Amino acid sequence: MRIGRTLPPAAAPLSVQEVLSGVAALFAGKRAVERFEAELRQHYAVPHAFLLSSGQAALAVILTALKRDRPGRDEVLIPAYTCYSVPAAVVRAGLRVRPCDIDPRTLDFDWERLEEALQGGRVLCAVATHLFGVPADVGRLKAAAARYGVAVVEDAAQAMGGEVNGSKVGTLGDVALFSLGRGKGLCTVSGGIILAGSGPVGSAIENIVATLPREGWGDALKALCYALALVVLVRPSLFWLPRALPFLGLGETVFNPGFALKRLGAFQAGLARGWREKLLRLREARLRHATFLERAGVAAAVPLHGAVPDLVRFPVLVGDPAQRARLIEMSAEQGLGVAAVYPEAVTRIPELQGALAGGAAPQAEQVARRIVSLPVHPLVTQRDLERIAALFRAEQGEQKGR
Ligand SMILES: *Cc1c(COP(=O)(O)O)cnc(C)c1O
Repeated sequence: MRIGRTLPPAAAPLSVQEVLSGVAALFAGKRAVERFEAELRQHYAVPHAFLLSSGQAALAVILTALKRDRPGRDEVLIPAYTCYSVPAAVVRAGLRVRPCDIDPRTLDFDWERLEEALQGGRVLCAVATHLFGVPADVGRLKAAAARYGVAVVEDAAQAMGGEVNGSKVGTLGDVALFSLGRGKGLCTVSGGIILAGSGPVGSAIENIVATLPREGWGDALKALCYALALVVLVRPSLFWLPRALPFLGLGETVFNPGFALKRLGAFQAGLARGWREKLLRLREARLRHATFLERAGVAAAVPLHGAVPDLVRFPVLVGDPAQRARLIEMSAEQGLGVAAVYPEAVTRIPELQGALAGGAAPQAEQVARRIVSLPVHPLVTQRDLERIAALFRAEQGEQKGR
């Protein structure tokens, strides 16, 4: 166990000021939530914005709304390498997961596999995923999906501040979600956002959201305690402490369709006060750090041309699982925040065995074993970045010398 400066793999730090703003919002109640929703509608120029208790709750609501509109279709096409919350939300909505293999060069869909997966008439929607904040090719997915009457959901959980050709990520598909959870681009402890355009899905979502309970005082108290802990413990000087406590389960990935399905509480809406300026500041720092790593010779898993990505983590594909294990071990010794990501492809999640539509996803399974993420958040210093780059250069050199 390391005691000393340790970087979290991702962080959007909370200030004491923001926590106070959260507490003040408790007195405004649902007006604070409505205000945040109005700001989101304005910023993203969409007719509908809804705040939910988490990103996966947001996705479950979206899928339920789509299902009501198209009762004959019961499959959701998702990338075979993604956050476990995504298949969990599909199961929660009473739908079937259809993983589609990914292209290791883009981490986006393998387009040949996608075309096959869309056939058969059972696919309700396909989920474009901006993994790590790297923009997915939503236009290409929309074109393919349109041929089969399939809706496109944008999973922008990790990409809230991104842009593609001048359009904001979250406005590229038929309906989108962001996450406000820990480790995402903007953090209010927990929370999820739905953005919907002017089609029928927006009003269907509105009807469902109206039936959901709001987070109560118990939820607010829990979020307040968590926020206070985050203010202090996310600092690199103290992050070794939560990391050393196994019962916190930091960095663990669990598959749990039994998550809470509620509307976001006022406390979290208050924590988000000033979110537009904060998001810009965060994106600027993350991009600057990512650019430094690239210039220092660390190759990102995905080329980043033509977009202003909002990278929450810097993804790298290393040669093999043994090399990855060495890098993570050396990083842990030095507290550099290099981390493995989701442990398995969706096709390998034990709880889903026998319940999936479609076949294997060998490329996603390879990626799961070879991917690491490097921290680029604002708590990372120049010196940290130099040490991270040196670690990767040394390892690449060793690989060549072997
Ligand atoms: C985190 C995440 C989600 C779910 O968000 P939560 O707020 O954690 O429920 C969905 N999709 C992706 C790609 C994510 O990273």
